[in-house]
Amino acid sequence: ALNSNNAEDILQTLEQQFTVDDQTLHNITTQFLREVADGLSEYGRPMAMIPTYVKAVPDGTETGTFLALDLGGTNLRVCEVTLNGDQTFALRQQKYKVSESLKTGEVAALFDYLADSVDTFLTESGSPSNAVPPSLSRNPTHNSHANDLEEEDTYIPLALTFSFPVEQTALDSGRLLTWTKGFSAKNAIGKDVVKLLQDAFDRKHIHVKCVALVNDTVGALLSRAYTSGGCILGAIFGTGTNGAYVEDVAKATKLKNDPAAEDGGFMIVNTEWGGFNNTRSALPNTAYDNKLDRESINPRYQAFEKFISGMYLGEITRNIILSFIDAAPKPLLFKGLSTAEVNKQWGVDTAVLSEVEEAWEGLGRFASTAQLNGTPSKEDKLERVRTVIAKWLGFALNEISLTDADIVRRICAMVASRAARLSACAVGAILVQTGRATLSANGEQNPAELKDAGKRIGVGVDGSLVEFYPQFETKLRDALRGLVGPEVERRVEIGLAKDGSGAGAALCALVAQRQR
Ligand code: ADP
Repeated sequence: ALNSNNAEDILQTLEQQFTVDDQTLHNITTQFLREVADGLSEYGRPMAMIPTYVKAVPDGTETGTFLALDLGGTNLRVCEVTLNGDQTFALRQQKYKVSESLKTGEVAALFDYLADSVDTFLTESGSPSNAVPPSLSRNPTHNSHANDLEEEDTYIPLALTFSFPVEQTALDSGRLLTWTKGFSAKNAIGKDVVKLLQDAFDRKHIHVKCVALVNDTVGALLSRAYTSGGCILGAIFGTGTNGAYVEDVAKATKLKNDPAAEDGGFMIVNTEWGGFNNTRSALPNTAYDNKLDRESINPRYQAFEKFISGMYLGEITRNIILSFIDAAPKPLLFKGLSTAEVNKQWGVDTAVLSEVEEAWEGLGRFASTAQLNGTPSKEDKLERVRTVIAKWLGFALNEISLTDADIVRRICAMVASRAARLSACAVGAILVQTGRATLSANGEQNPAELKDAGKRIGVGVDGSLVEFYPQFETKLRDALRGLVGPEVERRVEIGLAKDGSGAGAALCALVAQRQR
């Protein structure tokens, strides 16, 4: 079929290459567990397995009001979070723009801006219509005496969610390893980001103390634990993918000389699983994956992430579509026509795949028309796919045949299904790593050997892919069932982690105060 110039033959060959069967998933999970163990035993390994120094998990009874500052998404965000102690929370937030000159200028200017934003937020929250708890209103009598800094109690606790690679050395300190996402502020690499922020607060006599540095995966875990009464894994499937889970300190042997390991117990570990299998020895590479990696800004890094996350699925799909357009001797898509969108690197967003599948399945914004028309014919469904292709890929409707629509939706499905199934390896590996499942030939389990046998297993997830991509969770679960068997899979409760960088960060601040 490889030499064929028949669309159906080539599609089937490709579908085979993108299929990851249960045995393959099993092998990948085995390798995942090896790299987990490796990362837990030594620093500087491909899967970083970063200790977060969070040694408590909330159960929903926590109370208090905290500030959270979130840097690393599109906007800078300041929130005030009130934990009500009944698994609910109230959140008030304000977003601030981070200009290009701040992203690329002196780091002190960037952190001054962070501090100013918090100050502005607190000042504005002092308005009567927006009364804040006394603990959060600014101390009206504060002045610039240096010894203000010693009056710990008058300080408002703040947690910083900082979504850049950080080597954490305590709950409230961590050194920036490298900038990503278009940031390149000078004199920042290697610095303790909590200290940078605290220095800015202190320079400006703002009575806020940064008590915790939070990764978004940890925020997801904590927030899900709080709202659902327990959670063992927080996982992100958005622009990137990563997970944090609750590990026995004894298994993180690289912590052996760290005081935080002395009293044993557990600690949340940020896996940085996007970097799983950077050698790509176990991952199901295709020519399209090799091309994507080669053309990425970080070839040979974040290998697992490149098969799974929102940043890449659109690009893999775009490259497959292009190869169908370019096929010779005769083109296999769009009569050989292309558009600016399909020719441009990163020109196809993963949200497009999502919408193609929704159109085909009659979900999302297509649900109402789909219902009106009763059981749709294949033509009806492909007509809807055509409109999505026209809207997002820049073709005129008359340039898209129904066969083209069918080929495109099958390409989207194979790329996304592979991502969802590979994601199950990460979840399954954490279940095995924490003793809640064993890896056996056909997912068979001996309940007597399992930790928390029979109990619900809480997993908190966040990110557009898992939240919006049609059937992402269903496909992940199908694959997970193959790995750990139906009984364990059923007990895995996957739920959205609400506002990990706000509520989750607040919970981290609370943990920080209690652990002090
Ligand atoms: P982040 O991970 O940056 O915090 P998101 O969770 O929103 O933010 O993820 C953004 C990623 O999700 C982008 O790569 C985008 O392509 C993808 N995305 C956005 N909307 C959708 C959607 N409806 N379905 C699938 N993927 C989406």
